[in-house]
Amino acid sequence: MSEYHPLTESEAIELARRIEGVFPQGAELTCREIGDGNLNLVFHIRDEQSGRSLIVKQALPYAKVVGESWPLTLDRSRIESEALIQEGRLAPGLVPKVYKYDPDLALTVMEDLSDHIIMRSGLMQCRRYPLFADHISTFLANTLFFTSDLGMNQQEKKVQAGRFINPELCKITEDLIFDDPYTVSSNNNYDAAIEDEAEALRTDEKLHFEVALLREKFLTQGQALLHGDLHTGSIFVREDSTKVIDPEFAYYGPMGFDIGAVIGNLLLNYAGQLHWSADEASRTSYREYLLETVKSIWTQFDRKFRAHWNEKNVDRLAARAAGYQDDYMRRLLQDSIGYAGCKMVRRIVGLAHVADIDRIPDAAVREKAQRIALRIGKALIKGNRGAESIDFAIDAAREAA
Ligand code: ADP
Ligand code: MG
Ligand code: MG
Ligand code: MG
Repeated sequence: MSEYHPLTESEAIELARRIEGVFPQGAELTCREIGDGNLNLVFHIRDEQSGRSLIVKQALPYAKVVGESWPLTLDRSRIESEALIQEGRLAPGLVPKVYKYDPDLALTVMEDLSDHIIMRSGLMQCRRYPLFADHISTFLANTLFFTSDLGMNQQEKKVQAGRFINPELCKITEDLIFDDPYTVSSNNNYDAAIEDEAEALRTDEKLHFEVALLREKFLTQGQALLHGDLHTGSIFVREDSTKVIDPEFAYYGPMGFDIGAVIGNLLLNYAGQLHWSADEASRTSYREYLLETVKSIWTQFDRKFRAHWNEKNVDRLAARAAGYQDDYMRRLLQDSIGYAGCKMVRRIVGLAHVADIDRIPDAAVREKAQRIALRIGKALIKGNRGAESIDFAIDAAREAA
């Protein structure tokens, strides 16, 4: 047993060396800390000779944001490793393998995915991932269905939900996504050029009403075990492979929050294509690719989730009640659209932004992209409860651009 302290690189090497069956005896290991250092340390440990490698991710006891720092529970490291193991069981091959979890040091040793790239970077390079919609819809359908009352024993589910309460990380979401962007808050962070947009977010009553409903659902609906932070920076991709990382925000919440996170982040990139595409023709084509991906994610999720329902349902009433499945899927679609909108708005005016928009060097182009993202985000939030198909989101994106 070791008392908690942030590891040095040489301690990370010694820890990795003790994982059985990875590195050859006496290997000369090198270590680099590759995390962005806001909440966690990420050590990349490698043996040059055999080419073998591992990742050690360690939670820090505080979050560092714009120079300030606030305490943050180390228990999120347990939640992350337990969620990764659970996701790996339900969606094989779609998350990194976990080799070890150390509760005292609040760290997880896992598979190195450096042969993949973070999806957000791939999208900023206008790359296409033909299997992504298939993979992520499987991840979503399997992890959400089989941790819900439809797919698992309902008493066991309640016990499991108790292991994923996660109040501190939920509080971050509740404030940064569902509150700050719609009021005056020192957490907000946006260019002076869009003060008019921020003002509009603060005074739009219809918008506040819809955000309050979505926030209420986030606070109260323990529908399934969510990843909780499923943006394109939490997804590693290759053309032939998709791996979801970083589920430290996992908790029992509304399924649409995870689906909406993926969709909202694809649409943030859609707005950012004002800059990232080389010319008009490639922009049109890449944006069509993004919209097709959004459509395909929902369509495949809907099909796979219904197939689980029809074949693996454990709830007798849900299996029998006429019209219940269609009603459930319609509500899921609407939640996904609403949460996608919330995710977009907070990335423009809230504390934490996305590179797809922030890295646009030309201020005028960046401002235009921010306004497009906000227009889409607000349309999705305001229209979510009237949406009858995923085309609602696609039409909103087309109209905004
Ligand atoms: P945080 O919770 O601090 O955001 P992440 O789990 O998202 O931490 O990891 C931060 C970065 O570390 C990732 O963007 C990626 O570059 C790197 N990283 C994390 N996990 C792995 C992994 N399994 N393989 C390779 N790189 C990783
Ligand atoms: Mg990070
Ligand atoms: Mg992350
Ligand atoms: Mg994280």
